[in-house]
Amino acid sequence: MFGWMVMVSVALALGAIAPPAFAQSTAPSPQALDAQWSGARAMKDIATQLSFGRRGIGTEGHAKTIEFIKRELAKAGAAKIETQSWTDDNGGSPLHLTNVIGRFDLMRTNRIIVGTHYDSIIRAYADKKNPQGPMPGANNSASGVAVLLETACALSKLPPSAYGIDFVFFDGEEGPKSLGAGDPDWRALGSPYFAAHLAQFYPEQKPTQAIIFDMVCFKELKLIPDAASVSFAEGEVDRFWNIGRQVAPSVFSSTTPGHVIGDDQFALAKAGIPSFLVIDPWFNTTQDTIDKCSAQSLDAVGHTLLRYLYSQ
Ligand SMILES: [Zn+2]
Repeated sequence: MFGWMVMVSVALALGAIAPPAFAQSTAPSPQALDAQWSGARAMKDIATQLSFGRRGIGTEGHAKTIEFIKRELAKAGAAKIETQSWTDDNGGSPLHLTNVIGRFDLMRTNRIIVGTHYDSIIRAYADKKNPQGPMPGANNSASGVAVLLETACALSKLPPSAYGIDFVFFDGEEGPKSLGAGDPDWRALGSPYFAAHLAQFYPEQKPTQAIIFDMVCFKELKLIPDAASVSFAEGEVDRFWNIGRQVAPSVFSSTTPGHVIGDDQFALAKAGIPSFLVIDPWFNTTQDTIDKCSAQSLDAVGHTLLRYLYSQ
């Protein structure tokens, strides 16, 4: 072993060592990956979620979204679909919560989390005319769910990547008190619970990284890394944005970090997983409808994600 390591060191020093044969022989070309990921199909997944109506915690639409995610993961051939349910006391107003996890390539211990939240804001609090109105939630939260489901669908048609992928659909990202309607003491619920029970899913080693999507369908999408993500996972952010610039230069035009944005990346980073958020913050109004989204924006995000996963 020692001698072999010396040889490798020498070869590295001479710049002569090739990348592992596995990566070369089985990684599909960027074009082959793009061909399996359809923004038009992702738009349909957004439309389906909107047909469930309000999807805040405790609503009928919320329960329907859970069933929809499980059904689509099964169609995509996930090796395992798990739910993680618990009750948050919430100061005497209990909230019943469920994370949904779809796992691919279970044999691999090197794993990557691709996450989003599926609960939607309970009312359109930022709408000046109708703050009690329904929050359609095309961008926040249906777009993140659509990106994950379409990526799962693409994986089912491609050779395995070098890492096992876990799609995690977090509940309660919109927080406990106001269910997203402007609580100044906001805290995410689903991702901290998942992070606190990480060993149930990862008994041998923690995932190598987590990528979180939220609000990614806007027609004029501009993705800027949030400052917290850069501090949690600078190398990963750089690699993701580099690939993004090749896929859609106008969407990924800047890597200058923007504001800190609180989302599910925080709990996972706190648990020791390099984690970053992909988001273009939008307004939580009654106008968060599907006509503000485009298949092209979703393609930009989805193609970047798929190429990124196969470049690891
Ligand atoms: Zn969100």
